[in-house]
Amino acid sequence: MSFVKGLKCRECGREYPKEPLHVCEFCFGPLEVTYDYEAIKGVLTRDVIEKRPNNMWRYRELLPIDGDPAVGYEAGFTPLIRARNLEKVLGVSELYIKNDAVSYPTLSFKDRVVSVAVSKAKEFGFEVVACASTGNLANSVAANAAAAGMESYIFIPADLEQSKIVGTLIYGTNLIGIRGNYDEVNRLCSEIAGKYGWAFVNINIRPYYAEGSKTFGFEIVEQLGWKPPKHIVVPMAGGSLITKVWKALKEMKALGLIDEIDTRIYGAQATGCAPIVTAVKEGKELFKPVKPNTIAKSLAIGNPADGYYAAKTIRESNGWAEDVSDEEIIEAIKLLAETEGIFTETAGGVTLGVTKKLIEQGRIPRDESIVVSITGNGLKTQEALEGKLQEPAIINARLSDFDELIKSQGKYYAVKG
Ligand SMILES: *Cc1c(COP(=O)(O)O)cnc(C)c1O
Ligand SMILES: [Zn+2]
Repeated sequence: MSFVKGLKCRECGREYPKEPLHVCEFCFGPLEVTYDYEAIKGVLTRDVIEKRPNNMWRYRELLPIDGDPAVGYEAGFTPLIRARNLEKVLGVSELYIKNDAVSYPTLSFKDRVVSVAVSKAKEFGFEVVACASTGNLANSVAANAAAAGMESYIFIPADLEQSKIVGTLIYGTNLIGIRGNYDEVNRLCSEIAGKYGWAFVNINIRPYYAEGSKTFGFEIVEQLGWKPPKHIVVPMAGGSLITKVWKALKEMKALGLIDEIDTRIYGAQATGCAPIVTAVKEGKELFKPVKPNTIAKSLAIGNPADGYYAAKTIRESNGWAEDVSDEEIIEAIKLLAETEGIFTETAGGVTLGVTKKLIEQGRIPRDESIVVSITGNGLKTQEALEGKLQEPAIINARLSDFDELIKSQGKYYAVKG
């Protein structure tokens, strides 16, 4: 049973059937999945949702799958944490971390979009799934394709972090490193998708794939007791997640799951790759593509597919956008770890760094509820911290050596009896 009506062009409104299509034939606008909200209204209530298992499929009427999902039964419903220690440091009264660093199975929010895309590819009858990736998507497509019993081809910039490469290869996929940046990888993949007829999750299956991101927004609202927060800060790569968090709020309102939307959405990028942020700051509708140069490789998309709509979402919600330097990213990664015990990847450093900046600028008031979107795990981007942390002290296995060490540090020097 599906409530999907079909696909619709976001620009000219022309409608298309439920097929593996992603651009409008008439105006080249992107296609989006549409639903029969009137029919869903009677079916999907707070009560129904709350009684379902704790995974992203508890909102399944708002996801574009006809049958049961092929993969991703454990994806989603990650923790929303009240960050009391971080509140003190930042001088704010109500701060939450939505923690997709512990997403199942590959430790980033991409497990949400891939669960939908791989399930949909299977429904369409594809045998091969593929993607162009900045790293996390590669991990998730490879893992979920393995679980779904499908062949996969993964294309990445050749210079990605080691953990993202190993964390892809391990699933027995076909991994292809391209000499070039993500935008070049993506351009090549568009050509391959047409020629080989594979299901590229973020190209020809993109309208379905992107819907999975809505569950990140649904969960935030449900976990706050069906009360949307006043401010949500979201990292931007291709700019899809941020638009879908906004769509999630609008759908919840349309279905009567929430009464009103009084939420501002903020976009976060690294200074070394901030095309969407720059457009927002300059008040321009169109962004200018850039050549990425940042340690936040998962966000390093210089020509974001949904950049225009991301900027529009930010304007529509009365939010704002900011960027942070590589140094600020590392400071923020450490801050989150030292205050809340959460190790995020560089993208999370971008999001928290930007949140801190927006609070200091007075753009986000200190006495309103704030949600920081942590989308990936720090174990995958350890290179970024090389030389940035204290080295462990190395001693011999002798008590006197330890005594000496403790004494030299001048800390916790209390010897019993
Ligand atoms: C892909 C990714 C994003 C951003 O996703 P878009 O939808 O392309 O904007 C954010 N954080 C992490 C860790 C990612 O891997
Ligand atoms: Zn169109």
